[in-house]
Amino acid sequence: MPNPSLLILPGDGIGPEVMAEVRKVIDWFSSSRGLTFDVAEDLVGGIAYDTHGTPLTDETMALAQSVDAVLLGAVGGPKYDELDFSVKPERGLLRLRKEMDLFANLRPAQCFDALADFSSLKREVIAGLDIMIVRELTSGIYFGEPRGITDDNEGGRVGVNTQRYTTREIRRVARAAFDLARKRSNRVCSMEKANVMESGVLWREEVQKLHDEDYSDVELSHMYADAGAMQLVRAPNQFDVIVTDNLFGDLLSDAAAMLTGSLGMLPSASLGAPMENGRPKALYEPVHGSAPDIAGSGKANPIACILSFAMALRYSFDRGEDADLLEGAVEDVLANGLRTADLLGEQGTSSVSTSEMGDAIVAAMDARR
Ligand code: NAD
Repeated sequence: MPNPSLLILPGDGIGPEVMAEVRKVIDWFSSSRGLTFDVAEDLVGGIAYDTHGTPLTDETMALAQSVDAVLLGAVGGPKYDELDFSVKPERGLLRLRKEMDLFANLRPAQCFDALADFSSLKREVIAGLDIMIVRELTSGIYFGEPRGITDDNEGGRVGVNTQRYTTREIRRVARAAFDLARKRSNRVCSMEKANVMESGVLWREEVQKLHDEDYSDVELSHMYADAGAMQLVRAPNQFDVIVTDNLFGDLLSDAAAMLTGSLGMLPSASLGAPMENGRPKALYEPVHGSAPDIAGSGKANPIACILSFAMALRYSFDRGEDADLLEGAVEDVLANGLRTADLLGEQGTSSVSTSEMGDAIVAAMDARR
């Protein structure tokens, strides 16, 4: 069996700083668990524009298509704000998502016990929280035609966007959610607005149909997305996997993310169709951006990026035990009181640097082994 392959795209700002810590984790798996990756590294975003005049070269795009998984840091920064839209750093990321056809965006919201007081909700409401939001990422109202702003012929203007979903688009993201649920607590809640939107009616019917055909072992429920938003802040622990469309997923995943506190803790994955080797096309990245305000100061929290790699272990490489080990090590260092500056909150105890946090996580993996 060839080694699994990874393309690392550190990007801009704190991207390279947090990715350096992921490299330590990758090296640890090679030396301590016999899990060796073929790792390539390349440029994306502003740094790619500085070097090549484009935020993503065709060569890097081809490389991304050929590997088992892509791991990205962050892109962007004030230096690039004035660039033409077509070459802005974010275009590199959008091109990756589009050409790899990454239709399922996975955003876990997990509460580490040591950070429970960081949430805006009461500890007892979020303790033990572990939910996964699966958002459809490549269709729906952000892409539907017709769209635009035109004259309304009455002296005013009209803005139009179109919510459009096909059976195929609904079924493939629902399938991703059901498959995930089987690796977790086996429950899926599908959210739409079937009460007021035809696309919501179709969404509900197709999810139910797929469930009855192929996933009757998974517990399926349906909820209107507005009620879902309320339930997310009222009693989030009732959910395991939530599957929803692009627009509702955008809102619900941001709300769920904040249940857990800091941006520096949030990983994500975007998955596409299975490749020839059975692994899905996949891009893993922290939710946060390039944090230009702290770039270069050693203050960045590397945990979001490290947990994104844990997701890669679980969802691309079927190494659930290794993912558990890495997530457990993160839990250990937090329980031991280690904090990067973003996790200090009101307590104001002293913080550790990006690289000290990475070292501590590697040491905690050693201790757990
Ligand atoms: P941001 O996520 O970069 O930062 C928001 C705030 O959170 C900042 O105060 C930052 O210091 C803090 N923060 C973020 N990540 C952190 C970490 N790991 N550790 C500690 N603190 C952290 O969002 P922004 O400031 O709105 O955007 C900055 C740049 O990043 C912009 O150019 C934006 O376009 C880009 N951006 C990129 C992505 C991406 O690459 N996926 C996502 C969002 C924003």
